[in-house]
Amino acid sequence: MAEPARVERVLLAEPRGFCAGVEMAIKALAWMVRAFDPPVYCYHEIVHNRLVVDRFHQLGVMFVDDIDEVPAGAPLMLSAHGSAPEIVASARERGRFVVNAVCPLVTKVHHEAKVRASKGYTILYVGHEGHDEAVGTLAVARDAMRLVEREGDLDEVLSTVHDAERVALLAQTTLALHDWEGIMERAREQFPELWTAARNDLCFATTNRQAALREIAIRADAVIVIGSSNSSNTIALAKVANEAGCARVLRVDGPEELDVAALGSASIVGVTAGASAPEDLVQAVITKLAPRDGVEPVFVTEEAEYFPPPRELRELMPTLDTVAALLVGGDPAAGRTGGGPFSDDRGTDASAVLATLGNDA
Ligand code: SF4
Repeated sequence: MAEPARVERVLLAEPRGFCAGVEMAIKALAWMVRAFDPPVYCYHEIVHNRLVVDRFHQLGVMFVDDIDEVPAGAPLMLSAHGSAPEIVASARERGRFVVNAVCPLVTKVHHEAKVRASKGYTILYVGHEGHDEAVGTLAVARDAMRLVEREGDLDEVLSTVHDAERVALLAQTTLALHDWEGIMERAREQFPELWTAARNDLCFATTNRQAALREIAIRADAVIVIGSSNSSNTIALAKVANEAGCARVLRVDGPEELDVAALGSASIVGVTAGASAPEDLVQAVITKLAPRDGVEPVFVTEEAEYFPPPRELRELMPTLDTVAALLVGGDPAAGRTGGGPFSDDRGTDASAVLATLGNDA
């Protein structure tokens, strides 16, 4: 059998990988693992990435899909995708210590849904049926919302609208831009007064990663998207590469899934990663590709967004720093002055936390 052609160059998308919301959620769960005796519970996968979930599982985090499985008084995190209001309420019962790691940009969509529903709007929600984010958002205003997965769903959904002047269109934050635009244009033809958020609901991380990938997909013979199969933004990235005309698009969880032979004769290979895929997987994939002429970063924009830890954890951090300082014989004032390890969230990188977590036990 003929040997696959050697990869000449890797075009590496920037930005790629962890977004501000995923950074926040991973660090928040890591702080909880360090602060509480196991098990710490997490409602749904903290983010949709197999490696991240496996890593926390090894550290004693129990992932549950039913709040009733979480014992009274236990520490519990709610995932970055956002939870239904009744889940948030029942999580807080029975003395559980609850940290809600919902991304602020998902909260923004929940807020839009609440406001539009209170004004009597019918809300068309573009999202993936059964995805954690969609399930949580639809529950915010169940009676007012209609799920639209694809353009083909529109006719049936539109027939349920009774007041054509009060229709809103909201979206899951991680859709492929092209999918959203197609549905938005069709809905606007039907309802000229259609309400949408000023810059749509697709988050900055989704649009930036897709823009960077478009740049490389038009130049690459093949594209590798690193991320899990249940990650909506990862699947959207693969779609974007296909739509850009790239002949060969592979989605892999990590290097062990990458079959270099499947790249065929591709000599220029684009690489990107979904918003929940750690950077060490990207580097391991590049190592496996071993490009003869090296890696060319393809920069589209810089991301400086930072989301601070969830409120419940921010309130706890000074105490944790005081305890940490006392344990090592240091200055207990660290908790008051914000000088301890728990308070330095901004200067801490989620990938690094993930890589070293457990070594300090
Ligand atoms: S992809 Fe966007 S909405 Fe989702 S966690 Fe990241 S920043 Fe938040």
